[in-house]
Amino acid sequence: MNTDTYLIRRSRMVERLKSAGIRNETVLRAMSRVPRHLFIEDIFENHAYDDLSLPLPNRQTISQPYIVARMSELLCSPAIGFPQKVLEIGTGCGYQTAVLESIGIGEIYSIERIKQLHDIARENLHNCGFYRARLIYGDGYAGLITFAPFDGMIITAAPPQVPVPLLQQLATGGRMVLPLGDERQQFLYLIEKTEQGYRETCLERVNFVPMLDGKSQVNSRNQ
Ligand code: SAH
Repeated sequence: MNTDTYLIRRSRMVERLKSAGIRNETVLRAMSRVPRHLFIEDIFENHAYDDLSLPLPNRQTISQPYIVARMSELLCSPAIGFPQKVLEIGTGCGYQTAVLESIGIGEIYSIERIKQLHDIARENLHNCGFYRARLIYGDGYAGLITFAPFDGMIITAAPPQVPVPLLQQLATGGRMVLPLGDERQQFLYLIEKTEQGYRETCLERVNFVPMLDGKSQVNSRNQ
């Protein structure tokens, strides 16, 4: 497929995101810039700009474009200003990371527990000219105390409850976007840390891979 075909498909994807209710122009512009087809395996390339989650190695998935846009929009509210320092848990193939970079977030830290995906994400991001995000191979449940606090957090795997270290590492005035629940039922949440405490907003139903404990020690495609 040639570059023009991808451009056309990508602009159709952005039109669909607008029809689905995504309004944030900065997010839409980022989604129109990041070449999603370069973050997935060749065999799925034909579906790169469909609104589908697609398989990654190690039984993980790249989220569907709508969810990436929706989470980015919740994280980057024009009303309260965009976050400057963001922690992402679950780098996967690096697509969401690329969208955050393209939005213009200055400091991005992204943790992935599977070494193979951590390496793939680095290759994908560099291949597409994204060098700003710091990629960490580790367990996101612990957060990243050295660089805390973060004024934005985005978690792309579902824990059963909000991990306490992440709440502690969120700056006052900061916001966290994450799916919460188990494999039967999950909802997207926005958690805002205010002077008075945490404000939780439960949004739509979602379907993410589970957030798992610990760094994976296995480095195979079929873990
Ligand atoms: N945002 C990713 C989505 C990847 S799917 C993308 O755009 O491709 C969720 C990812 O979270 C998986 O790669 C999985 O390995 C990772 N993950 C699950 N539990 C984790 C944890 N405790 N710490 C870090 N990453 C985790």
